[in-house]
Amino acid sequence: MGVKKFKKIMAANRGEIAIRIFRACTELGISTVAIYSEEDRLSLHRYKADEAYQIGKGKGPIDAYLSIDEIIDLARKKDVDAIHPGYGFLSENAEFAEACERAGISFIGPTPEIQRQLGDKISGRQVAIEAGVPIVPGTENPVQTEEEALIFAKDCGYPIIVKASSGGGGRGMRVVNNKKELLEGIRSAASEAQAAFGDSTVFLEKYIENPKHVEVQILGDAHGNLVHFYERDCSIQRRHQKVIEIAPSLYLTKKKREELCGYALKLASAVNYRNAGTVEFLMDKDQNFYFIEVNPRIQVEHTVTELVTMRNLVQAQILIAEGHKLSDPCIGIKSQKDIELRGYAIQSRITTEDPANNFSPDFGTIKAYRTAAGFGVRLDAAAGYAGALITPHYDSLLVKVSTWGLSFECAARTMHRALQEFRIRGVKTNIGFLEKVITHPTFLEGKCDTSFLDKHPEVFD
Ligand code: ADP
Repeated sequence: MGVKKFKKIMAANRGEIAIRIFRACTELGISTVAIYSEEDRLSLHRYKADEAYQIGKGKGPIDAYLSIDEIIDLARKKDVDAIHPGYGFLSENAEFAEACERAGISFIGPTPEIQRQLGDKISGRQVAIEAGVPIVPGTENPVQTEEEALIFAKDCGYPIIVKASSGGGGRGMRVVNNKKELLEGIRSAASEAQAAFGDSTVFLEKYIENPKHVEVQILGDAHGNLVHFYERDCSIQRRHQKVIEIAPSLYLTKKKREELCGYALKLASAVNYRNAGTVEFLMDKDQNFYFIEVNPRIQVEHTVTELVTMRNLVQAQILIAEGHKLSDPCIGIKSQKDIELRGYAIQSRITTEDPANNFSPDFGTIKAYRTAAGFGVRLDAAAGYAGALITPHYDSLLVKVSTWGLSFECAARTMHRALQEFRIRGVKTNIGFLEKVITHPTFLEGKCDTSFLDKHPEVFD
């Protein structure tokens, strides 16, 4: 396979990730195309691209970005060489990747076959079993009858977590403690998943008590070369959704880190993984790892990995899709040894949510917007300016603040300083809440597990 240099790339996405993609393209000398829904006609991502086109007229704010045929038609008409799907929307949709291929447009991500093998949690678990990677004890197949569920519960004991196979963003999950909750949980997780993902398949896993969430960034080229970029800790979660992420984790010995990253590579090489992806694990208090899922796409929290490895992952994704080898000078990774860790990075997700009102999303026009800046601070935002309109149509992520420091303490202090520097008026934000987490002794000691926010209600005051 030779290298085909892209001249024009479309981001089939919106918000901060579309802008992140445009920046990588511009740095590589590639021109950029944005798509936007009617509701996004004033959104910044459309102005950050060299060309921008409205899609999905009359389809509604979400479906506009899911209009496969229209997006591909437009890409063809505008001579787009490749499409980057970002995260969410069509990023894990194998049909979309296939439609791109059929239209002669490169899809910047794993092949549709890889997406199918890893795309849902049940098939991902199957790959892990075959690759010899430890998984959370659970049902191998979808749970179809109450009887099956009760047999599993008898063997494994409570608590159990009911999970939607296609679930994401913490949706379609229920932790259950007894038979009644189990049967109810299966019904409600299945109907939530049907509504959100069009797939009601659920399975059961043992609920690991107070685990840490650790995940390994991987990157493979189309020539069989594969590396990892070490791990991120994403244990600070609210309702199973990540709030603050750290790279690298603070508690792994060299040996445990090797074990973890080794599992990720083993699983990824079992499917000949290509492009960027993340292999997610839970770690229990005895430091046993359990694979939970693969996200075959760029993730929100990739910034912290970029900061500690000094590597541009989105550029690497584009270059790999062009056909480059990892070892080509433009990517510059001859072997795993070339990926070095330096310092610590933290990402906080500032959202337009009101912590005093159970984090309900807030809307309106941003009246004042003053950001942090300075040494060790990186910002990724879309609606980050005075006059920006925050609508109820999309998720409430306003700006990702990532900080870097030679030590974890230094990265945390820079984060605290950065959060204090922000002034956002006109919409409510979670900045005060983030500050309380960042300065919490348990956080600073690196001891947070996924139960941290439940156990420390004081950070919500
Ligand atoms: P999603 O795809 O919705 O993000 P994941 O499977 O990645 O779902 O899990 C998200 C979070 O839910 C995990 O980081 C963890 O906090 C919790 N979780 C998932 N599975 C388990 C489990 N078996 N035991 C304990 N917690 C779990």
